[in-house]
Formats: sequence, structure tokens, C-alpha cells
Amino acid sequence: MQNVFLIGLSGSGKSTVGGILAERLGKPLIDIDALIEKARSDWYAEAHFTYSTQGKSPERVAQEIIAMLISSGEIMADPPILLVRRVHIGEGYNVVVDWGGLGRLGQNLQMLNLPPRVFVITDNNVRDLYASTVMGTLTYFGFDPQLYTVPGGEASKSQNQLNAIYDWLIEHHAERNEAIIALGGGMIGDLAGYVAATYLRGVPLVQVPTSLLAQVDAAIGGKTGINHARGKNLIGAFYHPRLVLVDPAALLTLPARERTEGWAEVVKYAIILDTKLFAQLEAQAETLRDFSHPPAELLCQIIARCIALKASIIEEDEREQARRAILNYGHTVAHALENAAGYGALLHGEAVSLGMVVAATIAQQAGMFTKAGVTRQNKLLKALGLPIDYSGPVQAQDILAAIQLDKKVANKQVRWVMPQRIGQVIVTPMPGDVVQNVISSFFAERSPNKEGNK
Ligand code: NAD
Repeated sequence: MQNVFLIGLSGSGKSTVGGILAERLGKPLIDIDALIEKARSDWYAEAHFTYSTQGKSPERVAQEIIAMLISSGEIMADPPILLVRRVHIGEGYNVVVDWGGLGRLGQNLQMLNLPPRVFVITDNNVRDLYASTVMGTLTYFGFDPQLYTVPGGEASKSQNQLNAIYDWLIEHHAERNEAIIALGGGMIGDLAGYVAATYLRGVPLVQVPTSLLAQVDAAIGGKTGINHARGKNLIGAFYHPRLVLVDPAALLTLPARERTEGWAEVVKYAIILDTKLFAQLEAQAETLRDFSHPPAELLCQIIARCIALKASIIEEDEREQARRAILNYGHTVAHALENAAGYGALLHGEAVSLGMVVAATIAQQAGMFTKAGVTRQNKLLKALGLPIDYSGPVQAQDILAAIQLDKKVANKQVRWVMPQRIGQVIVTPMPGDVVQNVISSFFAERSPNKEGNK
């Protein structure tokens, strides 16, 4: 017999949503609008999920309902998609990639022998979508989950929010062996991770990343921290989780711009380490960009591949003494651009995309990388929806000054991550004139002020 899902929808656009759901899930739709008022309210009370469509497009509503059904275990991948990578740092921990895995968090946590009380930290966007699933699975598996929500957005990665979370933990008399669960994107992973690293000198941490950027990058590698008024990520600690649970189905609800920016880090891994991954991204760019019919297996494989690549690097160089530097491909210019543009103007992945365009061009101008290589990289970035041109207000001299400042802070030469071919990079200082020329032409040509001066 086919499952029947009762989904209570309130607000506008219900019939359009119903149509999209029926088509995507391959299930017949019964419109209970047609039922008389009394019968309808009885059905609402019985609903598996209730959901407000207010202010959301039918497409977005349908996508969020599908994601809820997957994460709650109502719709299973057939066969299930489960990929596990053990990270060999300290006592070691598993990174589990599981399509629909949010609904199996309790099961995964049981294996860690933690005390029943766990402290879930999330932001309001992720809470509205996934807190009920996560709290449900934790409770079902015998845990006693407590929930803390911060406002979504980078501004929450702050000393104020940090103190508020410490207060909450102290009020609850949270103990040293009780775990913190970071449920959300990279902002939550960094903030809750830093709480776990510092509260009572360290309590168990479980990362449950829900954005693409966090799944392929931020949740792996042990970097945690908060921002300071004078700069991003200035306060932090290396602290590894006991488990990372990645549910790529959660990406169904990620806003398109945030999803797209995540691809920049994926392309970065391919260029620095993996020709095959690069070719796979080229072949599937359109499918990956368009999420209306998500390629569950492909997505899980690609995310798991990125995790394995990052894990292999950090296992070699946990504290960024040497090899880990290659993960900064595209980031020298990206950080300078984020700095000069003011944080928030560009998403991090967008800045990294532009940074990779500049870095590849520098390598090419210095004779280290082919023109065809640069074109191939840029074409892929564009196909995945990432920017390869800059049209904002930042000027070349701002970028050069920001890079210089970074260099002074670090008290050393800028070491560029330069591609030699797709899948291979080296870390090296570069001639100042080449860097200057490339940055000047990339930023100058497109900046509106300069255009005006022409
Ligand atoms: P984010 O955590 O702010 O998430 C972006 C937005 O998406 C937020 O509004 C969030 O509420 C929302 N969101 C997250 N998951 C969602 C989902 N499944 N459905 C709907 N909405 C969802 O930002 P981010 O891009 O994930 O991460 C950026 C942060 O990560 C920055 O603070 C950056 O410094 C940090 N970072 C850390 C590392 C590291 O190694 N620790 C690496 C890269 C980036």
C-alpha cells in the first residue's frame, strides 16, 4: 500500500504546491479543501506535518515539504545512500553522509555513549525547518535534548551570542561529558563549535552541517571561532567533533544563492586535488545547479568525495603548518575582497570564485598554468552559477592593500596557491609585477568608477 501523508497547508498557493508535490513525489493528491469545514479541521489535527505557506513561493514550499519528508524518514532513498569516512585525528571520528540522515541523528548518537542530555544549538531558519525532526529523533532514541536558537546570519558569530550561550549552559548546569550539537550552516558550526571547545575546557561536540559550504568545508577540520569587531574569525580554537552527520537532503531548503556559493569550495577541491572530480562536475554542472529534481546519489558522492579530500589534507597537517595551505586556493584575493567590500556584500563562496579566477590568471601569466586550464576552470564556475567577473565598487588598489595588510599581519611573504594543472597546485611566492598586473586589470576594467573615467 502507498504511504499517505497528511500535510496541513495554510496560506496562499496551496493548490499549486499540491500539484508540484504530487508530480515530484509521484503520489496522487487529494485536496481536502473540498471537504466540509468540520471534517477538514479533524484532518488537520491528524496531520503528520503542518506548514505555513505564508509569503513563500509555491516552488519553495514544495521543496521545503519534500525536504521535511525526507529528513523525517517518511521518504527513503531506495537503496539508502550512506557513505562514511573516518577522520584519523586524535581519537578519530566518523563523518557520515546520509541522505535523510537528520531523522537518524539519535541512532548515530547512541553509538557515542553520551549522557542523555544534549544541547542543540541552531539558528532560527534551520530551527523552523528541522528542529522538530532533530528533537524528535533524539527523544525517540532516549536523549533529553535542549534547544537554543540564535538569529540566522553572520552577526550571530559574536561575543554577545557566545556569552548568551554560556549563560544558558550554566543555567542548565551543563556538565563536562554532555554534548553540544551544532545544527546549521557554517556560522552555527563555528559558534557552537567554539562553545564546545571552551565551555568547561571542552565538552563533546557533534556537527550537523546543513549548508553546502558547511557540509563540504566548515564542519570538517576542527576550526571553530567567532568574529571580532576588528575582523572575521579572529578568536577561535582547533577543536574536533566526535561525529559529523551530513544530510545532503537538507540542501533542498537552502536558498539558491547560499547553495550556489557552496560549489566554489567544491570546485576548489577539484582543482587542487582531483581531476576526476573536476570532470564529473563539468559533466553534471547543469543537474547540480538545478535542484528541482535533486540528484541524491550524485550529490552524496560529491559531498563525500570533498570530505575525504579535506580529511586527507588535515590528517597530514592538522594545524595549517604546511600542506593545509593548499586549501586556501582562491582565498588570498577572496579574503582581500571580502575585507575591502565589507563583509556581507559578497557571500564567501562568491568571493572564492572570483579569487580562483584571479589566482588561475596569475599562474597563467607567470607561465605555470595553461590558458586552456584557466578557461576550463572559469567555464565550470560559470556553469555552476558562480561569478567570474566583478562589477562592484572595490578597486584594484584596495585589493592590493588588503593583501599587503594580511601579509604584514602574518609577518611573512604572501604564498600563493597556484595551479599547475587541474588537480595539482603548488604554494609559492609570486613576482609582484605579475600579481599587480593581473589584479589591476581584473578589478580596474570592471569597476564602475574606472568605467566612468574612460
Ligand atoms: P550560514 O551558517 O550563515 O548559513 C547561510 C544561511 O543559510 C543562513 O541564513 C542559515 O540560516 C541558512 N541555512 C543553513 N542551512 C539551511 C538549510 N538547510 N535550509 C535553509 N536555510 C539554511 O553560512 P554558511 O555559508 O553555511 O557558512 C559561512 C560561515 O562558515 C562563515 O561564518 C565562515 O566564516 C564559516 N566557515 C568556517 C570554516 C571552518 O573551517 N570552520 C570554513 C568555511 C567557512
